[in-house]
Amino acid sequence: MYYNEETVVFLDGNFLKIKDAHVGLYNQTMHYGNGVFEGIRSYDTPDGTRVFKAKEHFDRLHYSAKMMHIELPYTSEELERLTYQVLEKNNLKDAYIRPLVYLGENMSLTPTKEVHVLIAAWSWGKYLGDNMLNVMLSSYQRPNPRACHVEAKVVGHYTNSILATSEAKAKGFDEALLTDMNGYIAEGPGANFFFEKDGKLTTAPLGNILAGITRSTVFELAKELKLEVEERFFKPEEVLNADAAFFCGTAAEVVGIKKMDAYNFPLKWEESNSYLIQRAYKRRVSTNEYKEVYF
Ligand code: PMP
Repeated sequence: MYYNEETVVFLDGNFLKIKDAHVGLYNQTMHYGNGVFEGIRSYDTPDGTRVFKAKEHFDRLHYSAKMMHIELPYTSEELERLTYQVLEKNNLKDAYIRPLVYLGENMSLTPTKEVHVLIAAWSWGKYLGDNMLNVMLSSYQRPNPRACHVEAKVVGHYTNSILATSEAKAKGFDEALLTDMNGYIAEGPGANFFFEKDGKLTTAPLGNILAGITRSTVFELAKELKLEVEERFFKPEEVLNADAAFFCGTAAEVVGIKKMDAYNFPLKWEESNSYLIQRAYKRRVSTNEYKEVYF
């Protein structure tokens, strides 16, 4: 699904076929989860293939690496250039791109100087599908920001996401929604969350969530559409009184939520402001309306 014999990845300075790419089994990322990554999308636009907000994603990769004491040996510009090459070598236009920074072999609890950089890409539909979602209020909370850097996209943080997703799926839901350590709604396992009440959009503030690049795109779109949007803490009870809700993230894009637990969001999706955001997001990414590229 992610690759075949022809697939080419960038690994440590070379473009390689997957079968020629090898990893050390004692690498620290595999044993302890100390590695950082990104999830990026490219779109086939009228201007050609364009990586959406590449700079923001690679700057976040740098931030994540820095927080984990990992020295990333490429600039954001270089990583963007390499990404376009990976896309070209694999004939990909609409693609999901996965840069992964993993470490050398070390069984002690200190990062290694040896740093590996992988850039892979594949075709991937919307992560949570196209249909409205049934969401479960998770029994898991997002990691405590005093235990780890929640705004860094660290490999090991995703064990929390896997637990929450597994719980939700086992109970027949499509996706989980997690609270923070204080019981306020934080985000999904791999996407940020917004709800709509009387036309106004509300989302959790930064601090206990990943600072989503799609989330900030939603702010931009809301401003252009003259929609009110607010960042503040809110409890699950408030969501159970909302008109509509959605998740947003690079992989999921903007996806509407039909139900949270037994509560049906009453507003018809096509009549919600959330829907306007969904439509505007699709347009933004696929028309290259957002033109900030390095080169
Ligand atoms: N929260 C979490 C936990 C995520 O994994 C993601 C996906 N990177 C997001 C939010 C959304 O972030 P972005 O819009 O930058 O993809």
